[in-house]
Order: sequence, then C-alpha cells, then structure tokens
Amino acid sequence: HIELRGVQKFFGDVQVIKDMNLVIEDNEFIVMLGPSGCGKTTTLRAIAGLETIDEGDILIDGKAVQHLKAADRDIAFVFQSFSLYPHMTVYENIAFPLRATRQSKAEVDRAVRQMAEILQITPLLQRRPSALSGGDMQRVAIGRALVRSPKALLMDEPIGALDATLREEMRTEIKRLHIKQGSTTIYVTHDQVEAMALADRIVIMNEGVLQQVGTPDEVYTHPANLFVAQFVGSPV
Ligand code: ATP
Repeated sequence: HIELRGVQKFFGDVQVIKDMNLVIEDNEFIVMLGPSGCGKTTTLRAIAGLETIDEGDILIDGKAVQHLKAADRDIAFVFQSFSLYPHMTVYENIAFPLRATRQSKAEVDRAVRQMAEILQITPLLQRRPSALSGGDMQRVAIGRALVRSPKALLMDEPIGALDATLREEMRTEIKRLHIKQGSTTIYVTHDQVEAMALADRIVIMNEGVLQQVGTPDEVYTHPANLFVAQFVGSPV
C-alpha cells in the first residue's frame, strides 16, 4: 500500500500540499480530483519520487519513497503528453521498459503481444507513433507503462487531450485494464465525470488541502463541505 503522512510541500513561499494524510490500499483505483493548480500533479510526482517533499513521509509498502532506488519503486507513470519514442515502432515502445529486465527475447515478445491484444493495437505494432491517432498513441503509452506489471500506476490527465467520444472509450479501457491487471492506480483529473466513472475512491483536493476521501457515491451523496458539493455537483 501507499501511505502519505503529514505531507507538506512548498514552492518558494507558496505551500502547494498542506498536511496531507492518505492510505491507498493495494489494487485500489484512486482518482485525485480538483481544480487546476490545487496540487494534484505535485502530489502524484511526489509519490513517484520525482518531487521532494518538505515535511512528512510518503511510504510504499512501509518504505520511504525517497530512500528507495528508482528500480525498487516499481511505479509507472503516464502523462497527458504521450511522450512516446518517435524513432521507435509501437512494438519497440512497448518493449522498451523490459530492456532492463533479464527476460529472454521470447518472453519480451509474449509480454508485448499480450499487452497489444488487451489494448487492441496488434495491427499497429510495426507503425511509428507519428502514424497513429491520438487515442492509439495513448493506448501505446498505457501499454508501455503496464507491460512490466508495475506495483503502482500513476496517471496524470492521461486522456485530457482526446476528444469526448474517444475519452469515453479510453475510460472504459483503462477501467477494464485495471480490473485485469490490478495495479494500484492513482489517476489525476479535474473532470468530475471521469472521476465518478473510474474511481473506487475519490480524493478531492482544493488549494493543497485534501477535502474528502470517499467512494463516488459517498462524496456525491454526503459531501464533506460546500466546496466538495459544488465541485461534484451534488444536489442541494
Ligand atoms: P493542473 O491540473 O493545472 O496541473 P494541479 O492541481 O495538478 O493543476 P500542480 O501542478 O500540482 O496542480 O500545481 C500546484 C501549484 O504549484 C500551482 O500553483 C503551480 O503553479 C505550482 N507549481 C507547480 N510546479 C511548480 C514548480 N516547479 N515551481 C513553482 N511552482 C510550481
């Protein structure tokens, strides 16, 4: 599990995470929801060990993330900008994270093809990213992140750049993949509909402060405060 204990983060004089406490269970799908600038990305980057914190602890299975070597963190990250390797094929992009493992060529091949099957991109394996649609690029980015079955998958607005129809399709796919693979997932968005559709539990933030943690139903029917009620559109 992933645990945040009294986490505080400053950028200069500005405090962007204020005493955040949270426990995320294994295999949970957590959505961090809040308006732009509320500190979601910074929290996610801190969990990944990509950002330092000023106070508190972030523990992965009881070990402080800043003391874990990158290879031992076993966390994969998907960003809004897909950041695929343009000179590599889809196949090579998905296989890339497996280069550092000791798997044989045949094992790598099996893993890549299985991932491509799940994401329905097998016919695209020999293409380069520039020849793909936005949705397919995002599928490749997700495939690359999940191919080595990471303990945790962190996603920052992964489908924010896609059009509405494709977003809905990708949402379904991300959820399906989660059920199948079971990686603990933390998904950042400012889109309430996305949060409601995906989350086991939603973490709602505003101005660096965690406002409420609960199932979509709980936060909708029993919002902790006016901010949450307005943000998730609870009936008044
Ligand atoms: P968005 O959805 O717009 O990315 P967010 O909720 O993810 O917003 P963060 O990106 O975590 O919010 O940013 C929180 C605050 O910290 C913002 O006011 C932002 O301007 C500021 N900030 C983020 N990164 C830095 C940085 N490297 N240096 C200084 N300030 C930063």
